[in-house]
Amino acid sequence: MPRPLGELDAEAKIRRALAVAATTPLGDVPVGAVIFGPDGTELGVGTNRREADRDPTAHAEILAIRAAVRAFDDGWRLSDCTLAVTLEPCTMCAGALVGARIGTILFGAYEPKTGACGSIFDVVRDPAVLHRAQVRGGVLEEECAAQLVGFFEGLR
Ligand SMILES: [Zn+2]
Repeated sequence: MPRPLGELDAEAKIRRALAVAATTPLGDVPVGAVIFGPDGTELGVGTNRREADRDPTAHAEILAIRAAVRAFDDGWRLSDCTLAVTLEPCTMCAGALVGARIGTILFGAYEPKTGACGSIFDVVRDPAVLHRAQVRGGVLEEECAAQLVGFFEGLR
């Protein structure tokens, strides 16, 4: 059952995504995503599982979308829902979030190489995109970046 979280601000939502990211399978870059319903109810979570699942589409956001639509009673839509993710979504995930009609995207660390919510592309706020989500990046940016740096330092 989804756990009601009530009125949580952006930092609390990203903090929850950080906790989810900490459960990423060993060997996968730690990224965590959580989707909250319009009332703040937690609908679904996902971690990056690209290596674990040998699946290039197994990004945290995609897995969170799949879990959330099962809990949210509006077909494939996540209207007025909020996604919180520790790392700026890539083009695939940003496209999927727009396709899901997500209301708000919160992310932590910017991703200067692949980020598609403003860094190299802006898939979400492109003028050609019909559904427009609210985007807020850099929420708890240092903590989110530190989690990633810690992972890559561990690989050396
Ligand atoms: Zn992605």
